Amino acid sequence: MRPALAAFLMSVIPISAAAEPRLFDVAWREIKKGVFVGGRDDPLRYPVVANTTIVIGKKGVLVFDGGGYAAQGEQVLAKIRAETKKPVTHLVISHWHGDHHRGAHPIIDAFPDAEIIAHEFACAAMLDGPERRVEEGEAGLDGLYKEISAAVERGKWFDGSELSEPENAYFARMVADFPEYKAQLARMKVLTPTMAPKETITIDLGKRKATLFHAGLGNTAGDLALYLPKEGLLATGDIVVAPVPYGFGSYPKEWARVIRQFAALPVGTIVPGHGAIMTDKSYLLRLAELLEDIARQADAANSGPAGATPETDFAAHEPAFTQGDPVKARLFAMFFKEPIVAAAANEARGEIAKNEPLDGDASALCPIER
Ligand SMILES: [Zn+2]
Repeated sequence: MRPALAAFLMSVIPISAAAEPRLFDVAWREIKKGVFVGGRDDPLRYPVVANTTIVIGKKGVLVFDGGGYAAQGEQVLAKIRAETKKPVTHLVISHWHGDHHRGAHPIIDAFPDAEIIAHEFACAAMLDGPERRVEEGEAGLDGLYKEISAAVERGKWFDGSELSEPENAYFARMVADFPEYKAQLARMKVLTPTMAPKETITIDLGKRKATLFHAGLGNTAGDLALYLPKEGLLATGDIVVAPVPYGFGSYPKEWARVIRQFAALPVGTIVPGHGAIMTDKSYLLRLAELLEDIARQADAANSGPAGATPETDFAAHEPAFTQGDPVKARLFAMFFKEPIVAAAANEARGEIAKNEPLDGDASALCPIER
């Protein structure tokens, strides 16, 4: 190529655009030999993308959270093909929220004999009202994104609060990312689990054992974590999410107990549902203390005078999660504070069935236990 032409081309190729990772691009890390974690480096960008863990045994491959979007599931499948000739024998779904399974179908298309495993409640929620209500909400996304776009234009959020410059940039990118998000939503598919355990089970992958750990009510009523005792690895699903936890439909008092059980395990690698891999338990302990405090406040409010609804106070904990960053503070309010206040009140009143209502009975919806 003539130097003048090369110089011309370099001046017109948008270098900055090439540097920006695509919305659903995941990066891979090998944690131990044959154990890989894939996740998007920016955990806050919307829509959020869940971490995937691949475990290669002598007999087969286990995938934990194979992808919420088909573009992600395809990358997981490509990574497996690049690392091994062994078949995928188990696809595990940590919980029913779509960002953990609705894009995993490319893996099952390639390995149709693989067991698809979700907790009984998660399986029921995927096939029943909880998933259906999410899809009904998604039908209105065009309108919602128009409103977000208008909020960016006027520099004020829906509630009238001022959007700082970083918040404005965050929501502007969210609007710009919408067409790609929508294209992936059109490809989503809810798989039907073939195994729906109610309790902890262990799977032998050949020279490698994987425990699917159910420790009680937590972020949902049907969470499974992946525990590899020999490798000292725990993948938590959304029981642990960083830097900002998700509170929707959860059970803060019981959730804290689950995290305390996790914190007692001899693990050196913790893969959260979203966010960077952790090598110590400090975030788990912070999260447990936050949830315990919320549950305590909900219990106190419930035993107080009828009609009084004291505000939940997050002040003792919030700076450790948001570090004063306005975007994190906004997301902490939207994804955690608002939903968890309602969830904690239901839990304090003993009305937990209101948090993730099923239309039918879980064991009737998912009668698949081996
Ligand atoms: Zn998630």
